[in-house]
Amino acid sequence: MFRNVFQVSIKFGLQPLLLGATFILWSLNQNELWIYPVLAIGIQLILGVLEYNFPARTEWLHNKPYKVLLSCVFIFTYMLTAIVILPLYAEYVDPILTNIRTGLGFNIWPSSWPIVYQVLLAFFLSELIWYWLHRAEHRWQWLWRISGHGSHHAFKKLGAINAGANHPLELLLVLSLPSAIVELVFGAGLAVAGSTLLVLTSAYLAHSNLDLNEKVIGSLFTVNKHHIHHHSVVHAESNTNFGCAAIVWDRVFGTFSNGRTLETGVAPKEPSLWEIFIMPLREPGDIQTAPHNK
Ligand SMILES: [Zn+2]
Repeated sequence: MFRNVFQVSIKFGLQPLLLGATFILWSLNQNELWIYPVLAIGIQLILGVLEYNFPARTEWLHNKPYKVLLSCVFIFTYMLTAIVILPLYAEYVDPILTNIRTGLGFNIWPSSWPIVYQVLLAFFLSELIWYWLHRAEHRWQWLWRISGHGSHHAFKKLGAINAGANHPLELLLVLSLPSAIVELVFGAGLAVAGSTLLVLTSAYLAHSNLDLNEKVIGSLFTVNKHHIHHHSVVHAESNTNFGCAAIVWDRVFGTFSNGRTLETGVAPKEPSLWEIFIMPLREPGDIQTAPHNK
């Protein structure tokens, strides 16, 4: 009885609760650096415990060594972003775009709005940029290859931890771009930090192996049913639902699909971790979901 009530609470309450808690905790600690890793890791831990106890697909539960391995990839990914990629953007991209913006007098960001509206505006703007970048990765084979996007799609079992299983090339070339563009082109400032955390929380939920409600919240935000469909091993199905955090752009641009997903991955068999890592150079021979266009 208690278990059923808890499961229904997760189904209807978890996504709004975690998105709301992310915003509130961030807004209370906007200038504290610790809030970013604490929220990123804390939400992963919550989702990991819930997936272990209430998995939507029991066959997708990772065994312990695999979970540890994916956790190491997740931590490596965030260390790489914090130590290498963000400083690279700050050093080389920031000065150029800031100079262009101030030179043109392009200061249109509504910084007098309440922070919640600014964060939501930055969230949906960065997701609009991500939507087109992600769609392009699935459209052109050269971009799919150099960005290493196939590596992210290669896993047959999905869970929240998979949101951090990206190729380092993709982190550098694509994943960091949407937030950086919103901050640097529009001068959105701190609102981008809040929206980036919302994108992370939403992406973790979108990969989670939990039974989550899609009604109402799924008209704007991506729910896991949508994103798991994007991870389908069927090529046509993987060319839908490009929004990882905001599904609204798929609805606007006609790529939304609400279908069921039987199997995920890029091929009938999951490549080894080494094969996943070298996918930008050499793809598995039985790959099904790579773009056909060069
Ligand atoms: Zn994709």
